[in-house]
Amino acid sequence: MNVIKFGGTSVANAQNIQRSINIIKQKREKESVIVVVSALGGVTDLLLNAATQASEKQDNYKEILETVEKRHLDTVKELIPVAGQSAVLSHVKRELNRLETLMDGCSLLGELSERTKDLIVSFGEMLSSYIISEALKAQGEDAALADSRELIQTNSRFGKASVDFDATNKLIFDYYERSNKQVTVMPGFIAKSADGHTTTLGRGGSDYTAAIVAAALEVPSLEIWTDVNGIFTANPKLVKQAEPIPYITFEEAMELSHFGAKVLYAPTIQPILNKDITLHIKNTFEPEAHGSVISKVPEVKSDNPIRGISNVDNTTLITLEGPGMVGVAGFSKRLFDVISKENVSVIFITQASSEHSICLGIADNEAAKAEAAINAEFSFEIQQGKIYPAIIENGLSIIAVVGENMKNHQGLSGRMFSTLGKNNINIRAIAQGASERNISAVIDSKDVKKALNTLHETFFEDATVQLNLFVMGVGNVGERFIAQIQKQAQYLRDNLHLNVRIAGLANSRTMYFDEEGIDLENWKALLPQGEASDFDGFIKKIKALNLRNSIFVDNTASHEVAATYAQYLKSSIGVVTCNKVACSSEFSNYKYLKNLSRQYNAPFLFETNVGAGLPIIDTLKNLVASGDRVHKIQAVLSGSLNFIFNNFNDTTAFRDVVKQAMVEGYTEPDPKIDLSGVDVKRKLVILIRESGYEMEIDDIATISFLPDECMATTNNDDFLVSLEKNADHFNALYKKAADNGDRLKFVASFENGKANVGLQFIPQSHPFYNLEGKDNIVLFYTDRYADQPLIIKGAGAGADVTASGIFADVIRIGNR
Ligand code: ADP
Ligand code: ASP
Ligand code: MG
Repeated sequence: MNVIKFGGTSVANAQNIQRSINIIKQKREKESVIVVVSALGGVTDLLLNAATQASEKQDNYKEILETVEKRHLDTVKELIPVAGQSAVLSHVKRELNRLETLMDGCSLLGELSERTKDLIVSFGEMLSSYIISEALKAQGEDAALADSRELIQTNSRFGKASVDFDATNKLIFDYYERSNKQVTVMPGFIAKSADGHTTTLGRGGSDYTAAIVAAALEVPSLEIWTDVNGIFTANPKLVKQAEPIPYITFEEAMELSHFGAKVLYAPTIQPILNKDITLHIKNTFEPEAHGSVISKVPEVKSDNPIRGISNVDNTTLITLEGPGMVGVAGFSKRLFDVISKENVSVIFITQASSEHSICLGIADNEAAKAEAAINAEFSFEIQQGKIYPAIIENGLSIIAVVGENMKNHQGLSGRMFSTLGKNNINIRAIAQGASERNISAVIDSKDVKKALNTLHETFFEDATVQLNLFVMGVGNVGERFIAQIQKQAQYLRDNLHLNVRIAGLANSRTMYFDEEGIDLENWKALLPQGEASDFDGFIKKIKALNLRNSIFVDNTASHEVAATYAQYLKSSIGVVTCNKVACSSEFSNYKYLKNLSRQYNAPFLFETNVGAGLPIIDTLKNLVASGDRVHKIQAVLSGSLNFIFNNFNDTTAFRDVVKQAMVEGYTEPDPKIDLSGVDVKRKLVILIRESGYEMEIDDIATISFLPDECMATTNNDDFLVSLEKNADHFNALYKKAADNGDRLKFVASFENGKANVGLQFIPQSHPFYNLEGKDNIVLFYTDRYADQPLIIKGAGAGADVTASGIFADVIRIGNR
């Protein structure tokens, strides 16, 4: 004989019931079976809802009842051939009428006791078990219906009654000793008190019914059929990457269900724990899938000390503390006595080793009761100021990492908490089970999904890290960047174990989000469909999505965008930017952002601020971090000015070359920022700061080569006209250089605390002389590179190389 249980979804309608019946038939071919069933999926909730409405004199309980009625009648009509239908229909209708009478009673009295509630919800399982047993009979099975209320005896704690195992085991044993049916159907969840009232075993309790029967009869195997492929490494509704756990011990399953893995009702393991019974969780909708095998000793051992991660939402933390707590006699005993007298279940306990405070995690809906009882119990001590009144915090969740073998592995809790910390998940309390089979933490409910996913990544996903990018600015650089991400995504997954996705995109008009990652094939069509874009809205949305490893990518040149970085960093959202504004603003602001980055463990990377994709800042950081000291910097940092001076000669007009640079995207949107030297000053100040010196941009002298008239213009058109007017000036500069065999380069210098930028005549012997096209070059003179500088040279402008520099920063974060 074996016991099999079908959950709510497995019996939700005629079609699903037929699937379940097919499974029953297969089992019965080998030996007789006991089938425990839940109510039709969702019916228990509907009944509770209707009963509450009725007791509050809200008439819509009648509508809810109609829904319940229709679902059952439809199921009978679809499942049972017409010939046998009428007897079954009239029984079901009779039961539904009784149910309605009960509800009417609640409505008339305006009252709903726990006892009545149990009676009302029992109709769900009574009806489902009746219909399924009749359907089996109609299909020729040798089936019977056993009333669980006659076989399972409990106390009178309605809503979650405790089983009297001595009485129950005997009743079950005697019943089945006499029965010779091939299939016996039993309603799950319901039982009867010693004084004859219907009770229930707690929500989700049909699993428990099945285990009670299996244990009483000491059957070899118990199967629980549900709507997922077993117990998953985390709730599959919240963690996409979760996978079924093939083999797991009773204790591990118990811990996971205690901490919220709803797939198995927590008390289920208790009756079978010390029996030779194997529990198998299977999927009614994918019967061939392996499922989870739960046993005393796992058949197949896993190398991973962690078996799963679970979460309990709607939790309240009650903290009791006070200066005189140590001196209060029998404090803990009194606390737990009062809690248990109120029938409050404690999910989580932590006590400071000083014994000055104790923290309990309980369900939100029991918090008021617990608070009142605790404050009453300790009212004397509270009055004396020895203990403070209980502190209540709700809106919390508990997450637990579970594994039998955790005790033999050091550093797991460190990994757990650093993973949470990196994602700005605040931990309110921590507990390690005495069994060392779990570590649990209390966190804000809004962080649960992020916490589960990031922990899952850490402990289960072959070190694959998901990065969620929010990209602002889809111009030249932005567009290339998106294209590069799209092209490299697979490579990054395969080779660097990075899963890089763009979860948000914005330009100045619209912003578009997709929590699962925007389809990058299609982003150009999707972005205009997004909501109207604004900087605050963008941040708000990113915070609300609360995805792990979120990174804000700024591809704009905007002051307003640069002004938002602090808000990102403070939320532990990384910032990657090619926008130079922030790092070249006042030193205090630069320092502030760098400090926020450290404080909130949020990367702030801006490699592309100098030399586009060239690894200049990263190299500098490594030099400084390894103890080197920079004395002198000499650099040609403007790809735009290089392009201009490399193409300007006696056959070209200065104005035309500038125009060409603009068209080809080598200049800032406002070319004067390049030609006046402002852009180079910004880059130089960033290099100086990254070298460890304090410097303001105004401290850098400019040796300008632009006539005042050009400087005074206020738009690009006027500026180009002024360049044309002053053609003689520029031609003279060229001629002077050419006559000496020199070349014109716009050079940035820093030495002995002083810095300047300006046009210089570079002789042929100088390393700058042969700088081609839009190349940049930087010479660092340091303690270690004293005589011969460290030289970095290469393409320093252009959308592609800038995009790849941003890309490199993103990868740096992923590899962190
Ligand atoms: P049934 O009605 O069959 O008893 P339940 O709804 O009670 O089914 O339990 C199955 C559900 O449990 C799944 O659909 C899933 O949403 C949820 N669940 C939560 N945590 C886990 C987990 N770790 N593994 C599998 N399912 C889980
Ligand atoms: N029908 C009950 C519930 O929904 C029991 C169960 O399905 O296990 O809680
Ligand atoms: Mg269940």
